[in-house]
Amino acid sequence: MIYLDELEYKKIVKQAKAEFPDECCGYLGGVKNGEDISIKKIYPLTNIDHSNEHFSMDPKEQFDCIKSMRSEDLSMVGNYHSHPESPSRPSEEDKRLAFDPTILYGILSLQDKEPVFNIFKVDKEKNVEKLKYKLV
Ligand SMILES: [Zn+2]
Repeated sequence: MIYLDELEYKKIVKQAKAEFPDECCGYLGGVKNGEDISIKKIYPLTNIDHSNEHFSMDPKEQFDCIKSMRSEDLSMVGNYHSHPESPSRPSEEDKRLAFDPTILYGILSLQDKEPVFNIFKVDKEKNVEKLKYKLV
């Protein structure tokens, strides 16, 4: 099971709304315990594309972010980004750019009135699996 800290989830929603109509992005810091993954803290990153349809993370920020996660005893368990005007599932480009089958890909959609957040895994053949998670 995946556990997502509810306050951290709210921060993703806040960031996505603040950066609307651009996509926002960031890392998910957490702890793995057997099959369980607890997402403990989110790390917002700058979308250097400043685009409504795709995102690129700032490499310098990524590097610094991984360092601070380590100092906080967390590991990079995945990343997230927003879809300002499309559904909460990986686009063709998202699938193409999903290189790591071991990490989580969170997508927050602001398409509807209520934000929708889903977490996915993408395997090497680019098959997408939607994972169950619990807000805690
Ligand atoms: Zn996307």
